[in-house]
Amino acid sequence: MKIVAVDPFYLKMPDITTDADGTQDTLAVRVRTDEGIEGWGECDASPLVSLATYCCPMSHGNIINIRQSLIGEVLGGSDDILRLHKKVLRNALDIQQIDHAYSGTDIALWDIVGQKLKRPVYQLLEDQFRFLSDGIGYPKIPYASVLFGDTPETTFQIATRLKIQGFKAAKFGWGPMGKFDEQYDIELVESAREGMGKSAQIMIDAGVVWGSDYKTVYDRAKAFSQFSPTWLEEPLAPEAIEAYGTLSALNPPVPIAAGEGSATFRMAEDLILHGRIDYVQIDVGRVSGITTAARIRQLAEQQEVQYVNHTFKSHLSLAASLHVFATNEDFNLLEYPADGSELSQRLTTEKLEVGSDGQVRLTDQPGIGVKVDLNTVREFLAPVKIEINGTPIFDQSVL
Ligand SMILES: [Mg+2]
Repeated sequence: MKIVAVDPFYLKMPDITTDADGTQDTLAVRVRTDEGIEGWGECDASPLVSLATYCCPMSHGNIINIRQSLIGEVLGGSDDILRLHKKVLRNALDIQQIDHAYSGTDIALWDIVGQKLKRPVYQLLEDQFRFLSDGIGYPKIPYASVLFGDTPETTFQIATRLKIQGFKAAKFGWGPMGKFDEQYDIELVESAREGMGKSAQIMIDAGVVWGSDYKTVYDRAKAFSQFSPTWLEEPLAPEAIEAYGTLSALNPPVPIAAGEGSATFRMAEDLILHGRIDYVQIDVGRVSGITTAARIRQLAEQQEVQYVNHTFKSHLSLAASLHVFATNEDFNLLEYPADGSELSQRLTTEKLEVGSDGQVRLTDQPGIGVKVDLNTVREFLAPVKIEINGTPIFDQSVL
């Protein structure tokens, strides 16, 4: 089987706002083969900056675009996916955006190989990476992932709505957290806890608000601990590794989570080994896809850190994320986008629904197991044409 087309599609809502809502637009990638099998993936990254990585003219041997690296390549099994991952990243050594941009393609390649071999991706990963597991795909507890309301009162309303919807766990993030004083932060967390009820799990996402100020983070963790959050997420900047390490040495009374900003294996490794975080949160749409995410899962298992997905996109991304850690029973939480734009809600023809036991599980469909809704792609497609000196190098005006 050979790769014959690699097509990135820029999809967007009509209006884009400054809200920390990553579902307002997206870059979906379709890969086609000469056997008629096609796969899809999605990047959680700046769509147009990433798109350029698919078509920018070669500058030299270290700046070669993704299409040029892949078209005509042989794709037979997961060994090929790993080989192509290496090749594409090597060819784009000097393209800063490559890890974000390649994520969607890597996911699409796993989808294709799964379809070809008639196996779900998590089983292919099991064979390829030899995880410490029994190979069973375990169900996960979905936690609703939402933004804080602008006030404690609206946060309480959001939490109450999630509880009524049946969520047993929810994460509240960004918004006003850390923007005012300690009392306001405490009231935000308190309102989330009150709305969700005593028995639910709540998580707090501080949205990198305290930079490298680990002392404030320690104080907040102490203040928040009375509400028993499962974790305090990204209280520090992604690159504040030393501050994360110092914070960990202080033994904060709430576990610390981070990692969604990791674009490479090395970034996640640094947070795990030197930041000494408790939960590592990996986005398959940023870290150059399933291939690197699976390596980070291996490291998390070795270091006894809990692996969690970071997903604030469609159920295509959600399913791709879940394949990476489905076979580890202890990694039992799943970030589950509960809100999100119409685009993200309708990008796939089916969803990973919450089962009657309150958990989410993969099916044994081959590949990623969810299909892209082409009508949605057509509806939200923002056509992009790029030409240089009057010669087109990219034209994605039709599906
Ligand atoms: Mg976060």
